[in-house]
Amino acid sequence: MNNQETLLNTLIDTENVLNGYTHEEIGDDHLYTGIDTPMKANAFDMSDEEKKENIAQLFAQIMDVMGLDLNDDSLKGTPKRVAKMYIDEIFSGLNPANKPKVALFENKYRYNQMLVEKDITFYSNCEHHFVPIIGKAHVAYISSGKVIGLSKLNRIVQYYAKRPQVQERLTNQIAVDLQTILNTDDVAVIIDAKHLCVSSRGVKDDTSATVTSFYGGSFNTPHKIAELQNYLKQ
Ligand SMILES: [Zn+2]
Repeated sequence: MNNQETLLNTLIDTENVLNGYTHEEIGDDHLYTGIDTPMKANAFDMSDEEKKENIAQLFAQIMDVMGLDLNDDSLKGTPKRVAKMYIDEIFSGLNPANKPKVALFENKYRYNQMLVEKDITFYSNCEHHFVPIIGKAHVAYISSGKVIGLSKLNRIVQYYAKRPQVQERLTNQIAVDLQTILNTDDVAVIIDAKHLCVSSRGVKDDTSATVTSFYGGSFNTPHKIAELQNYLKQ
């Protein structure tokens, strides 16, 4: 976690966010408590290998409690597979060691209009139900004199997607990190995603999608928003 994330998180009082409601009363209504992914101070005391061993044991218990036969050939490898998938793949973005290294380059082309990287497909997971969020992210920035490789925009989206997430936080984490990396407020992020916790269970709405946006600096004007929306339509 960088300092900015940690600072922002300390400003948010989780008790107030709950407004006196219990988690049961809030039910499926997704809460968003801050820009920082809520992590324990000792989150990285355990090595990845130790985490995988622990998760495999605990997941085996869940399967056992549900009555599944862990001696069955098809099931016996599942706890280890899930543990490996959690740590190495779908939740690898929790570990700052996995953050993509980003090199900045001089804006030699003197291109001073918005750059839009659109339709970045990502797979994340809802932190309230641990089922997938599948969507597209559109990222835009106006150079302050430095540029980054286009693939890095994609990699930053993937890094933050590979955490248990809520879409609002994912949007803001990508945007604030890009503002820091590119040393400019002029960053926009739009995310359009389907949440399987809404479509495959609960209210079972298969057609709705969720759209979130962040318009920083000069993007936060009707003219720039219209220009960006126009690029996304093409
Ligand atoms: Zn959910």
